[in-house]
Amino acid sequence: MSVKILVANRGEIALRIIRAVQELGHTAVAVFETPDNDALHIRAADEAVWLGDGPRCDYLNIDKVVAAAQKVGATAVHPGYGFLAENPKFAKACEDAGLIFIGPKSEVIEQLGNKVVAREIMAKAGIPMVPGTENLLAGDEGVAEALAFADRYGYPIMLKATSGGGGRGIRRIENNEEMVASIPLARSEARAAFNDDRVYLEKVVLTPKHVEVQIIADNYGKVVHLGTRDCSIQRRNQKLVEIAPSLIKDQALLDKICETAVVAAQASNYTNAGTVEFLLDKDMNFYFMEINTRIQVEHTVSEMITGIDIVRTQIKLALGKKLVFGQEDVHLRGHAVEMRINAEDPLNNFMPEGGKTVSVYRSPGGYGVRLDGFVYQGYKIPEVYDSLLVKLTVAGYSWNETVDRLRRCLTNFVIAGPKTTIPFYLNLVDEPDFRNGDFDTSYLETHPQLFTYSTEDSEVDKMAKLIAEIHYRQENPYAI
Ligand code: ADP
Ligand code: ADP
Ligand code: MG
Repeated sequence: MSVKILVANRGEIALRIIRAVQELGHTAVAVFETPDNDALHIRAADEAVWLGDGPRCDYLNIDKVVAAAQKVGATAVHPGYGFLAENPKFAKACEDAGLIFIGPKSEVIEQLGNKVVAREIMAKAGIPMVPGTENLLAGDEGVAEALAFADRYGYPIMLKATSGGGGRGIRRIENNEEMVASIPLARSEARAAFNDDRVYLEKVVLTPKHVEVQIIADNYGKVVHLGTRDCSIQRRNQKLVEIAPSLIKDQALLDKICETAVVAAQASNYTNAGTVEFLLDKDMNFYFMEINTRIQVEHTVSEMITGIDIVRTQIKLALGKKLVFGQEDVHLRGHAVEMRINAEDPLNNFMPEGGKTVSVYRSPGGYGVRLDGFVYQGYKIPEVYDSLLVKLTVAGYSWNETVDRLRRCLTNFVIAGPKTTIPFYLNLVDEPDFRNGDFDTSYLETHPQLFTYSTEDSEVDKMAKLIAEIHYRQENPYAI
């Protein structure tokens, strides 16, 4: 039966979801706020509902989004990632309004969104994790607790916001002085960003790899995993490049990590798609970090190596279907990498370049290439949203072939207007440690040569920009 599904998001992920909804023969309803008037997801959807002037507050307004879903007669709501995706109040509001929330149950989101509670659940299930504290007590008592923890385990220590996410709310602390000064700062930042000033400590895992597992669970107790992803290449604890599967040679270890992720899903009564994140130290010990209760930006790499459409599966499972495949049907084939092409200046600490107009947009194509974007030539990037322009996902048989293809695609890509991460990635694909799969979360700091490149346009880029300029002049003769 065909139903209406409201897509409570914007940008590339809204398009990704709308496509899956339409492929299933359902009706896709977009929502938008005023800065997104020119956005493609509005045109791609079958219907669209304007939420308000925004910016950002309307996409985050639970009442307005739920009212929009009710107004159009939607059966289900897909939250995407970011915005309300991991807000248990939103999931609950959907449930209460009789809407199917495409994700886990609101109480599961609530438990797992709290990193301290998630750690407790996982500890009970026997899942390995780094030593850490509960929520620090308020005021001086909390500081005393922190100093006692430091005495016992030594520095460095991570001070983390209990409700943190997106790489925000994490500080690495090196000594007692810094600890004393940082706790109140971290609290006030966490209050502002997550409306929750609770913080806790975790021992730092030195130069770890970030390895995560895609899991999918139906509403009838079946859980499968789609293998690992390595997301170690990060800036400011935020992912830039993601690879599936992890390039670690020890298959038995990877299998163990995946099995542990399935146990984590079972221990938390997980349903729908999710990601279990781990840190892996130099001695190949792995530790639970958190579960993200939503579709991830980097789900594309898992799709490319398994052939499984995760978003399609999410929708079908949420509508009550059983998983039609078992663990034995999931086969990992070859390699895939996703590079986040952001409107940012890598040479200026990845400063966002929002507010600029994309004057030239020419994307690569061909075998093994997938693009998940939402910008087009002439599109003015709203300043108020994140800087992701397009995800370049490339698959290949071997790692070597995959990186060769990646380099070719990056060379073919021309984006003018904002500065982007493309020239930085062109350095990355030629860097020997990257080519050898030898990197951890300190990779950017230990490879400063990645930040040396010419900002001069190539001849091809210059030509493309000139042609775009001529077209613009012809179409807008009175523009100054
Ligand atoms: P978020 O919710 O913001 O994603 P995470 O807890 O998943 O936060 O951590 C994000 C990143 O921060 C990790 O990928 C890793 O690079 C770093 N990190 C977090 N905890 C630790 C730790 N205990 N030791 C070392 N690095 C950590
Ligand atoms: P369909 O709509 O064709 O009946 P589903 O939508 O139920 O298939 O499947 C959801 C996702 O799971 C799709 O991406 C599909 O490719 C994948 N899938 C379906 N069957 C299998 C199988 N036997 N083994 C592995 N993956 C499968
Ligand atoms: Mg995380």
